[in-house]
Formats: sequence, C-alpha cells, structure tokens
Amino acid sequence: CGIVGYIGHREAYPIVLNGLKRLEYRGYDSAGIALYDGTDLNFNKTKGKVADLEKKFETETNTKGCIGIGHTRWATHGVPNDVNSHPHFSNSGDLVIIHNGIIENYEPLKQELTNRGFTFKSDTDTEVLVNLIEDVMNNEKVKLGKAVQIALNQTIGAYAIAVFDRNKPNEIVVARLGSPLAIGIGEDEFFIASDASPFLEFTKDAVYLEDGEMAVIRTHKEMKIRKINDDSLVDPYVQKLQM
Ligand code: GLU
Repeated sequence: CGIVGYIGHREAYPIVLNGLKRLEYRGYDSAGIALYDGTDLNFNKTKGKVADLEKKFETETNTKGCIGIGHTRWATHGVPNDVNSHPHFSNSGDLVIIHNGIIENYEPLKQELTNRGFTFKSDTDTEVLVNLIEDVMNNEKVKLGKAVQIALNQTIGAYAIAVFDRNKPNEIVVARLGSPLAIGIGEDEFFIASDASPFLEFTKDAVYLEDGEMAVIRTHKEMKIRKINDDSLVDPYVQKLQM
C-alpha cells in the first residue's frame, strides 16, 4: 500500500528503506525492495514488517545500487507471503515492478500470456502486468515507456506503478490511476513515493501525477509526463512543498 523509488547519484537503499518506514501508516502485510548496481539486481521481499525486510538485507543481501524501488503490500490477489510480495520480475528477469492497486482483468491477460509461453511464480495480478509489458516490448519493439503505456491501455483497474529495466538503469517509468503518486525533483535525481514524506528531507520540489498520467523519469534528461490513453504531453506542474 505504499511505493517508494529513487534514481540518481546516491545509494538508493537508505532512501527507499526509510521511505517505506514513513509510509507504514498506510497499512501493509509485506514489504520488498529491488536495487540495481550496474551488474546485479539486489532484492529482497518478505511477508511482515519493513524491519523484517531490513534484517534480511543486513544478513543476506547486498544493498548497493543508485536505482531502487520499494513496496509495502496490502494483498488483494494472492495471500500475503514472500513470493507474492513485490517487487515482481518479468520472465526475462530484466523488468522490475512495484504496484499498488488492482488489475481487474488480470485473468484473461494471464491466460493469453500463458498461451504465449509466459510462466508465473506468484498469484498476483502485478506479475501479470510486468509480463504484459515485456510481451509488448518483445512484440512491438518499443521502448519501456511506450510498452508500459500500451500495456496499461489493455488493463482495467487501479494502480500506482513504478517499473525499470535493468538494461536501461537511468530510467524509471511510473503511472497512476486511482492510487496516489508523487515525484520529487532534485538535482539530477528523482524520488518517487505515494506521498511526499519519503523525500521531503531531500527536495521541496514535487509533481503530483493526476489520474491517467504516466511519467518517464530519466537522469541527465527532462522528465516527460503523458496521458496514458491519448499520448498527449502534459506540462509538469512543479509545486513547492512547505512542510
Ligand atoms: N494487487 C496487488 C497485489 O495483491 C497490489 C496490492 C497493493 O496495493 O499493495 O499484490
């Protein structure tokens, strides 16, 4: 029920972990974080508290990476357990997603993907979405942002998502319909979160996505916001947060 992300020049892990702690008030049953350090995807996910996740990272998992996404889950499809916790990965292992919300038509989508050879580790609607995005990338030879847009236009439901491709670790794609999503803008670094509390200590400049909008966020580049359904560009409205 919360999402956090970071892309920039700092280590993402402490920012994402502390961000998840700030979002605990939203309620959740599981937590997970994935980071990419240029070579390895370092990730852990667990049923339980953010503190349990932190312990797992301390004892089991490398915390390196300047791009990272984290999630607190409130299970809707699939029981709360480690496998159903987010992040979820596409079949190739390249795409990583976190998702708050529900993909209502995940069953027919899952069936189609299964017919095309995809397999699923979890019972979640979210794992269907990340593989749908991969399927679009494979079939239509489009970039991640476009593939996310095409995939979301095939879904019915509600979401705040963040997804990245380990082959393009300077970019995170986010989208919102029915679940909140704020983007914090630093100096050549971006923060993503369900509300601004995870990034207030780093920047006061924030863009709140509206329902039906997506953003392609790239370091060393402008962030681009579009309408998911008609592809029109949206001028980012940058708010100065007072808190
Ligand atoms: N529907 C997704 C799941 O059950 C996301 C739930 C959430 O909003 O945390 O995994």
